[in-house]
Amino acid sequence: MRLSQFHLGTVKEVPADAEIVSHQLMIRSGMIRKLASGLYTWSPLGLRVLRKVEHIVREEMNRAGAIEMLMPSVQPRELWEETGRWQKFGGQLLKIKDRKEQEFCYGPTHEEVVTDFARNELKSYKQLPINFYQIQTKFRDEIRPRFGVMRAREFLMKDAYSFHLTQESLAQTYEVMYQAYARIFTRLGLTFRAVQADTGAIGGNASHEFQVIAESGEDLLAYSDQSDYAANMEKAEAVAPAIGRPAPSASLQRVDTPRVRTVDDVTRHFGVTADRILKTVLVRGNEGLVALCLRGDHDINEVKASKLPELPDESVLASEEEILAAIGARPGFIGPVGLPDTIPVIVDRSAAVLADFICGGNANDTHYTGANWERDARITRVEDIRQVVVGDPAPDGHGTLQIARGIEVGHVFQLGSKYAEALNATVLDDQGKKQVMLMGCYGIGVSRIVAAAIEQRHDDVGIIWPEAMAPWRAAVCVINPKNSPEVSAAAESLYNELTARGIETVLDDRGLRPGAMFADMELIGIPHRVVVSERGLAAGTLEYRARTDAESSSITRDELFEILG
Ligand code: ATP
Ligand code: MG
Ligand code: MG
Ligand code: MG
Repeated sequence: MRLSQFHLGTVKEVPADAEIVSHQLMIRSGMIRKLASGLYTWSPLGLRVLRKVEHIVREEMNRAGAIEMLMPSVQPRELWEETGRWQKFGGQLLKIKDRKEQEFCYGPTHEEVVTDFARNELKSYKQLPINFYQIQTKFRDEIRPRFGVMRAREFLMKDAYSFHLTQESLAQTYEVMYQAYARIFTRLGLTFRAVQADTGAIGGNASHEFQVIAESGEDLLAYSDQSDYAANMEKAEAVAPAIGRPAPSASLQRVDTPRVRTVDDVTRHFGVTADRILKTVLVRGNEGLVALCLRGDHDINEVKASKLPELPDESVLASEEEILAAIGARPGFIGPVGLPDTIPVIVDRSAAVLADFICGGNANDTHYTGANWERDARITRVEDIRQVVVGDPAPDGHGTLQIARGIEVGHVFQLGSKYAEALNATVLDDQGKKQVMLMGCYGIGVSRIVAAAIEQRHDDVGIIWPEAMAPWRAAVCVINPKNSPEVSAAAESLYNELTARGIETVLDDRGLRPGAMFADMELIGIPHRVVVSERGLAAGTLEYRARTDAESSSITRDELFEILG
């Protein structure tokens, strides 16, 4: 590629909303441009990187025996009604209507569509196991789109879905996918960890996430310093044994609270005066979720305070997900122990500090009384977790626990029969009997990987691409091409030779000052840079610098070809 004929949109300014370095560098290097909240255009430069990731993902999926297909992004409501997820999926589901007033969603994921395909296509156990995948745009109306393409609303995902007659077969494909994922992230040149993950609302037997280790990661991981043990903190059980977390208070009791929706209702139902209610968060989810917080005095401890951010009183949140985001908690990591689905929102606190609360549950018309915050609350702040967890024996008995932050770039799941059952996706077994199929699903955040890689690999002046992801492996920079036909011709010939050798090369023939040219190449992270100048030509050398080198060195053409393999 000749840069004079390309569009390179490097800029100096970063927008104020670019909080993390990958977002800043993607804007500065001109890889992405924001269209609207959570919606990004991939520039020609950005797309080159995205396609590199896609290519590796596709190659490894094919190698692992998965078969590529492509499903529609827009999906009919009726199908989502069949699994109950039209209601349950919550605010992330973007619902749309066509001109005939028929309802659709823009697919956030494709279990429904692929299972519909499978129930029509697959008739016999002999067709199993089979693993379909696609690389396709998803839309999730994230409550807080941020960090650029890291948590976008529209993003590119590789999603695969496998179908099986037996659990054994499912477990086998799961293992194959696990290994394929490990190969993908290794080939991409990323430092990652596979961690046990919460199966949460989806249910199922086994689940692992692939996490790129980075300080800016939104996920918190516990891992052993001596074994392969690693788990997402969302999977609270992972650390519970290490923490020695107490059982729920004996006093904790579930109470039915029909139609308790407002502060007045709370007062009426529990006899709690309004001044003791710290904050009221009315949650009107699909299932009419209700949660309320204390209002009043301010000696709440920090753990609790961290869950009560700057929400206006009487905020109305649309879904469980919004509550979780609003209170800064994650599913499975909140609420009293033993009640993993409980929102830790407290409506009353007795004179005894931090004991005997009333908590709003995230189930409709339910509260818990007698919660003891100290005993029952899950620990959610990083600092708390660090204090409690680090140094404790790992649950597998080998080594001690450490914690790290990670970015979830992949997720593998044994779904079991959940979707196939709901959609009645069956095959005939060898006895001619109908059997509901078992499923696995396997996602990779293709576009997120690009941002995650930058988080892991950058310095003060720009991106440091792993070779496998670089937009070009080498850059040939020409000094003063206009003034010297010889320099221009030498650069041209070097560029042609590199290209002929299959080395993806960009020729910087824009005629910029050397400083500006080098700054651009460093910013966009090209792994190898050679400079063709009059001085070098006279000496018969090229000035070479790897992106990770501190200084450049003079080398011959042949030495360059050797370096670039
Ligand atoms: P997260 O916990 O970050 O919200 P998720 O668990 O909701 O992710 P999955 O349903 O497991 O995501 O989707 C598969 C993959 O898609 C994730 O591992 C992640 O890499 C990617 N992904 C999910 N949401 C987004 C998003 N909003 N923007 C970019 N990539 C995403
Ligand atoms: Mg999510
Ligand atoms: Mg997740
Ligand atoms: Mg996930």
